[in-house]
Amino acid sequence: MNDRKHLTLQQLLDSNKSWRERLLADDESAFAKFADGQQPPFFWIGCSDSRVPISHLTGLDRGDAFVQRNIANQVKLSDTSIQAALAFAVEVLGVEHVVVCGHYGCGGVQLAAELDDAQQVDHKLRQWVASLHSLCQQHSGSLSSLEGEAKLRKLSELNVGKQVDNVCLHPAVQARWARGESLGVHGLIYDINDGSLHNLNISRNA
Ligand SMILES: [Zn+2]
Repeated sequence: MNDRKHLTLQQLLDSNKSWRERLLADDESAFAKFADGQQPPFFWIGCSDSRVPISHLTGLDRGDAFVQRNIANQVKLSDTSIQAALAFAVEVLGVEHVVVCGHYGCGGVQLAAELDDAQQVDHKLRQWVASLHSLCQQHSGSLSSLEGEAKLRKLSELNVGKQVDNVCLHPAVQARWARGESLGVHGLIYDINDGSLHNLNISRNA
């Protein structure tokens, strides 16, 4: 792994200043045109991993995606944050697509796969990956033929499938479909090793 990069808060602020100036030099309405509100086509549910920011890996612009990210891109039925974000995206913003995007090399997936009772893990973190650990156990048959990285990659894909199922259970999603309105729910996986984004072909109502 690379040595940790050190950045100061001032460097962060300076970086914002130069980014802002660069955009304004190109288009003087670069910020004003977004001031009136948002109508993003996508709701993107991704992992918090610092290597998988949607705007970088898709090239999407500001205003294109409403975003929620958490460890291992999970859509828990008990998580108020993601459930509220889904309601807001689907009912208020009227997004056309909900995308669950997992990634290979996911630390959350790895933690869940290797979790055992003896391991010293923060209580809340253990709780967060517990359902993913259960998913791993549910699929122990198909996962048992795989080892190491291949096993984790498969578990990352299974996790996306499970979270797509959970998105589909949301009352706002069900209501949109009941009204006959188009709303696609999709599962993608991002490969950190080569920057490619893959369709898992598990879309609903696409
Ligand atoms: Zn991750």
